[in-house]
Amino acid sequence: MVGPPGSGKSMLAKRLPTILPDLSFDEAIEVTKVFSIAGFLNREETLMAVRPFRSPHHTISDAGLVGGGQTPRPGEISLAHLGVLFLDELPEFKKNVLEALRQPLEDGTITITRSSVTASFPAKFMLIAAMNPCPCGYFGDRVRTCHCSPQQIRQYQSKISGPLMDRIDLHIEVPSVKYRALSDKETGESSMPIKERVNKARELQKKRFGSDDIVCNARMTEKQIQEFCQIGEEAHKLIEMAIEKLGLSARAVNRILKVSRTIADLENSSNIESVHVAEAIQYRSLDRSLI
Ligand SMILES: [Zn+2]
Repeated sequence: MVGPPGSGKSMLAKRLPTILPDLSFDEAIEVTKVFSIAGFLNREETLMAVRPFRSPHHTISDAGLVGGGQTPRPGEISLAHLGVLFLDELPEFKKNVLEALRQPLEDGTITITRSSVTASFPAKFMLIAAMNPCPCGYFGDRVRTCHCSPQQIRQYQSKISGPLMDRIDLHIEVPSVKYRALSDKETGESSMPIKERVNKARELQKKRFGSDDIVCNARMTEKQIQEFCQIGEEAHKLIEMAIEKLGLSARAVNRILKVSRTIADLENSSNIESVHVAEAIQYRSLDRSLI
């Protein structure tokens, strides 16, 4: 999420777990195990029944984030397993810390090797990151003026590497509250109906993957993408245009296909239509620089 200070990015992130599907019993056990190993389980708590939400501060070390220590302990990415990891002010995190996220984002697991021991911890988390568009926070704002130079803005945005940006499915601009109040006539939808749509989409995905080892579109392999994300000629053309205009990588194209599949599922559409692909492409706005 990119937007000026006070636009509600943190609030949106914190509310996200309210629209996620409830944990299954097996998932609850997985989450409980990680918390137990980390020594974070309260004495009266026998089973973690809600999806975790973790929001470490930007001063965190790479060991704190991905795990580590003499006797390897799970880090924040494992404590966020099957839940949400929220990184506010993403460009403020140390570069090595952010880069350490790349492999677990891809694999859903983290292996920590120390001289005497090797330990693997699960790390299937949903990453939500928030940042201002520039050092002062108001670049592109419709109400306040930004005083940063193009070079300052470029430098700030380049703190997030292309390969990390590549691994984020949805890039969303969050305008200032003042602007939204002026332009939004509709009142927002509450979490309950949204959660119902999410649950229905999850059911479709469970049926789709059957006995395969995954439960949602985000975890599709290349082979599964070929099988389940077939698109028509018009949608193909849209993707070709996006590759040309945004310079998309093959990885980004796969992500567009997965997101298109999910948008179609949320609309209960068995085919991926070009309008779904067009929406998914819109969410890749940061593949090119903001300026
Ligand atoms: Zn600025």
